[in-house]
Amino acid sequence: MQTDSMKGKVAIVTGAARGIGREIVRELVSGGATVVAVDLLADAMADLAQAVGAADGQVDCRTLDVTNSEGFTALVEDVAARYEHIDVLVNNAGITRDGLLIRMEDADWEKVIKVNLTSAFIGTRAVGKYMVRQRSGSIVNMASYSGIEGNRGQANYAASKAGLIGLTKTTAKELAGKKVRCNAVAPGFIKTDMTDALPQQAKDIALSLIPLKEMGLPQDIAKAVAFLASDDSSYITGQVLSVDGGMHM
Ligand code: NAD
Repeated sequence: MQTDSMKGKVAIVTGAARGIGREIVRELVSGGATVVAVDLLADAMADLAQAVGAADGQVDCRTLDVTNSEGFTALVEDVAARYEHIDVLVNNAGITRDGLLIRMEDADWEKVIKVNLTSAFIGTRAVGKYMVRQRSGSIVNMASYSGIEGNRGQANYAASKAGLIGLTKTTAKELAGKKVRCNAVAPGFIKTDMTDALPQQAKDIALSLIPLKEMGLPQDIAKAVAFLASDDSSYITGQVLSVDGGMHM
């Protein structure tokens, strides 16, 4: 991203330890932001600041399960107190528990909804309070192609991502009057640990659906998130930006 386009801004990024989240941290840091990186995996965040080329104090790692409502709310309050403003929230943490609908266990449904959707509600409610008071802020939710189109074997995941799109548009409508924006990015098939775990047959099917004929990279998603997080997108709210090699068109 353009150097200095995020200078002075404070961003919270969830699911920051690896994959797409790590690249979002890198992109925001390169634009000059201070990033509060949140993840379950403390060990995986140990090298984060160095790996993304952050200056001293530019990445502030916090170990947290974002489904913990009290914990996530307290973290936001602590960030607001420490940095005196919160400019960006990226609700990126997400999991899959795939399986065909008629065999899906309640626990797999509930876990995915809680991590992917409920955590974004908790985070948005918590930062919303501060952003409304500041009269500025940008929230970016990590949706998915599956949330737009549905996907066999992903009833829980697709429902969580479709729910995130509803949350995005509602947040955008409720907070626009206070100059707080909310958008979503909908990745297609991106090369990360999440997709590496898929069987080869599923990868082949996904690849055959991509007009640009290759998987995306975490950086492709991070650049779109950084654009929506920055003032470069100051007249954009309530949108779902597909970054998917043309799968959804
Ligand atoms: P990943 O599994 O590589 O990374 C997800 C990160 O979220 C991990 O670091 C994990 O520890 C963290 N996390 C999971 N549950 C958490 C919790 N309860 N609290 C805090 N942190 C938690 O996945 P990824 O591929 O980088 O995906 C990132 C986001 O992008 C997810 O929301 C995913 O649904 C979405 N997405 C990915 C793809 C893809 O093709 N990889 C496609 C569409 C959408």
